[in-house]
Amino acid sequence: MSIENNILSRLGVTGIDHINERCRTVIVSALKDNPLSFTEEYLLQSEWHKVIDGLKLLIANHQAEKGIIAVSKSDRPVISDLKRCVEDCDNIDLFFVDNFYPAADQAILIYEVTGQPFSSATPAVLSGSLVYDIQTAVNIYEVVTEKKPVTRRLLACTGEVALPSLVLGHLGVSFREVIELCGGATTTIDEYVILCGTPARGAIVTDIDTPVTGSTTTITVLPADHELVKERSRTIGTQIRKIKSVCNQCSFCTEFCPVYLLGGKLYPHLIMRQIAYGLAEPEEVILGALLCSECGICEVLACPHKLSPRAVNKQIKERLKQEAEPESFLSGHTSGQLQPRSNRDFRKVPFERLADLFSVGQYAEPPKMEPLETSPGQVELLFQEISAAGVLPRVKIGEEIAAGSLVAEAEGSTGAGLHASIGGKVTFLDKERVIIRK
Ligand code: SF4
Ligand code: SF4
Repeated sequence: MSIENNILSRLGVTGIDHINERCRTVIVSALKDNPLSFTEEYLLQSEWHKVIDGLKLLIANHQAEKGIIAVSKSDRPVISDLKRCVEDCDNIDLFFVDNFYPAADQAILIYEVTGQPFSSATPAVLSGSLVYDIQTAVNIYEVVTEKKPVTRRLLACTGEVALPSLVLGHLGVSFREVIELCGGATTTIDEYVILCGTPARGAIVTDIDTPVTGSTTTITVLPADHELVKERSRTIGTQIRKIKSVCNQCSFCTEFCPVYLLGGKLYPHLIMRQIAYGLAEPEEVILGALLCSECGICEVLACPHKLSPRAVNKQIKERLKQEAEPESFLSGHTSGQLQPRSNRDFRKVPFERLADLFSVGQYAEPPKMEPLETSPGQVELLFQEISAAGVLPRVKIGEEIAAGSLVAEAEGSTGAGLHASIGGKVTFLDKERVIIRK
């Protein structure tokens, strides 16, 4: 059975651009990508039947030989129901992945599961495997079987809040409302900011009325003077001055880099050398920054001076995307040409160390696992959810609309749609957003 053309993007399952491709293996990843995320664990325990049925739909759709549910070895005790059900499926297996970081990264996960080294710089489908995160698998099941649009997002709200919790949030509800639902920010701090996403890759958000989107995973309230906030707030100029001053070319950042260890041509210490001393490195060294996954291991674990090759690589990537044409470099990273380093297994970073490495150890206790549900009086839906290029609004200011109504569609042929997460009146509409009030 193939998933009806375009139904996923039309009903709000975002980030799927390979739904029409064939592959050998479909992998649903239930791995945590950071120590503050607990949604995977909840979905594994409470929605496992939807995970399996979502995977069955995907196997059929991709005409795959088999499906894999990738879980961490540390989840072994909590998945007995899932395990029993998988045993009855001919073409679905559980795969227990070592509990290390960043095992949830697509290229690393594909290697762990299939043994095939693969670079994230190339389209995943060339590896013969496609990876879906567990919440997407659940969304796909619900959209295909119930034909209802995605209008809510399961996320974790943690950090300096009274009641760290999982939250089933309406798309467009404000971070303020999510935090208040979790008892509000603790009174011990005067000022706080929000880390939206993972400690390594997330953004520091200062506008508490920022809306929840389909990609919001974790909202962490942090004191404004928290170490992670200070680190993230350093300008690239400051980072480079620090590199010039103290980088001693020890090469630990390269030796622990998961991309390098998987055989990728990414040598952060050589990039740092170019930045610090202006030595004429081959162009390929700088282009290597394109492979950086921004996992942050180099800055929080490897570098004795807490320098940030991650931040430098991020900057280089942004610049290269505007200036260079890196296709020939990237084509040299197809799976057949990668050779994982022999010491890779000894350099895996244990997941349990991660929270302390990123200075968020005190927030890594599991939150209240039965999700709280938002009940917003107003939502702000961002059009960037469905298209960066342009959208066609399907509502007008002043119009009364029902929950689930189509409010905008992407221009062009993608068919992506954005739907109202609450019923009410459209009170604001411009090129970037629509606001609906009950
Ligand atoms: S952030 Fe650092 S360790 Fe991670 S992939 Fe980039 S260079 Fe390698
Ligand atoms: S680990 Fe730090 S000091 Fe060593 S080469 Fe990398 S950036 Fe320089």
